[in-house]
Amino acid sequence: MALSRRTEGIVVALGLPPTGLADKLGFRQHGFASFADLTEALRDHNQVVVVAAYPIVVRALATTLSSKDTDPAVVAIDEGMRFATVLAGAHHGGEQLARLVAHHLGATAVITTASSIYDTVALDQTPRVHFGHVPAGLQARINHGDGLVLVNPTDLFLPDAILALAHEGNNPLKVIISDRMRDESLGDLRATAPTLTVGVGCSSDATVTEIDELIETTLQNAGLDPYAIDRVATIDRRLNHPALLGLHRELIGFSADQLDAVETVHPSSVVYKSVGTHSVAEAAALLASGDGASLVVEKVKADRVTVAVARRQRLRGSLSVVGLGPGSLDLLTPRALGALRSAQFLVGFSRYLELIEPIVERAQVLRPYPIGQEIERVGEAIALASRGNHVALVTSGDPAVYAMAQLVIERLAEDLTLHIIPGVTAAYAASSKAGAIVGHDHAMISLSDLLTPWSAIEARVEAAAKADFVIAFYNPRSKQRTWQLEKALSIIAQYRQQSTPVLVATRVERSGATLTVTSLAEIDLETIDMETIVIIGATTTATNHGYLYTPRGYQPTPGHQGAP
Ligand code: SAH
Repeated sequence: MALSRRTEGIVVALGLPPTGLADKLGFRQHGFASFADLTEALRDHNQVVVVAAYPIVVRALATTLSSKDTDPAVVAIDEGMRFATVLAGAHHGGEQLARLVAHHLGATAVITTASSIYDTVALDQTPRVHFGHVPAGLQARINHGDGLVLVNPTDLFLPDAILALAHEGNNPLKVIISDRMRDESLGDLRATAPTLTVGVGCSSDATVTEIDELIETTLQNAGLDPYAIDRVATIDRRLNHPALLGLHRELIGFSADQLDAVETVHPSSVVYKSVGTHSVAEAAALLASGDGASLVVEKVKADRVTVAVARRQRLRGSLSVVGLGPGSLDLLTPRALGALRSAQFLVGFSRYLELIEPIVERAQVLRPYPIGQEIERVGEAIALASRGNHVALVTSGDPAVYAMAQLVIERLAEDLTLHIIPGVTAAYAASSKAGAIVGHDHAMISLSDLLTPWSAIEARVEAAAKADFVIAFYNPRSKQRTWQLEKALSIIAQYRQQSTPVLVATRVERSGATLTVTSLAEIDLETIDMETIVIIGATTTATNHGYLYTPRGYQPTPGHQGAP
């Protein structure tokens, strides 16, 4: 596969670029650009935001666009910053980019693709399935009210994301979901889902070309679609083999014992003697394909490689527990953004789903929850993922800090890929707004006694105070829990002076944010609610030029830089 030379995103303006936009998007920026700069930017980037009169942008695009599959996502903004219009790459992130830019600038996103206007499914954007080339005529039929029926000749358990394609209408389009090429003849259009696992066994001197060729010819001879390959399975001792890594596919490995426990068609005692299992390719393919798997191609052998193919009955779902950070979208990590983009279902507290609204795609399904009901949220997220969907369970801040990653791990089901995606936790977001109060050893303590007995919380507050930790209080005070913070502060006061700095930060990185630097003596409890984090300084916490900070454990001397 040829690697794209393009780098990520750029904001190009013929005049002054909009303040802060490039930073918020994580893009480069180029101001006072010439026409030549503009065409170069369009050629060299995956995502381009252009601030210029549209006719100029169109003229530059005319010389740079080549094909729908490789063109960058291009969003043009008029110089009045009123409209963010998708001009290219609509289905390659253009629509989302336009909405994100509009969100940051307070502008209107202009999106003109037919599927978004008619609010119909865009086949080439359907998650979990690959359509290859969708003839424009077929998409037009859908846009103009033709229905769609699904044909499922291999009896795949269809995940919700695929089932959602089906809809009523006249003269319905027949879409075949199958990894078998010949099933094309059953309807109008065939799509593949990631149903196939390729099991590979190889000797230590096998090359990537040998493996690749054997996979290709094996699938071809069996009439199977290579786009349906989900991943490659092998024995764990081969997981780091350069020839397997060179396939650039997701790999999974099993121990010899695990493999040997699988019943296969071609057990081999020669293989057993050398690696301790009677089968690698067949057993690994079956094991990696989950319950209900079937072998669709029995072991095929070349000199130094064996290949077998198994078909899953259910697609492999994934669950990402995503930390959104404190609120503002530019504190969302690129990895978190990627997980949100590839999810078909977004599950979470309604307020958090609202925070990410500008980046949600039309085809994504939101499952908002009221506050609380964490167990129900986790249960639904796992159930959706177990049915073969990609699911993102969103939390604010970091997903493990008084949030839901733990609950998910406790309730995890089989055969589901879990990703825990870290986020900027409230304490760090607040600390950095005021300086660096968390700058040395610190403790995070939740004052919520819903799940932890108050006596344990008190003991921890005391221990942290005694040990001179900076202390960040999460869940400090709610309408129902009014006395806990006061009590905690009185414990701390036994170990620290009344003048100890305290940071009170409410709605950090959200609209209506407030930040107060006060002290143990002067803290105003009435200003503190459930969207507030309270950070108590250590005995060394100080201010310099208005910044609150806790020095590292070394003594800075002039000219001494300290550890980085
Ligand atoms: N997982 C979250 C914390 C969830 S507990 C994280 O890592 O940040 C909820 C508590 O976190 C709130 O009561 C408040 O104390 C704190 N919090 C979360 N987001 C906040 C924000 N934007 N501003 C201030 N405090 C916040």
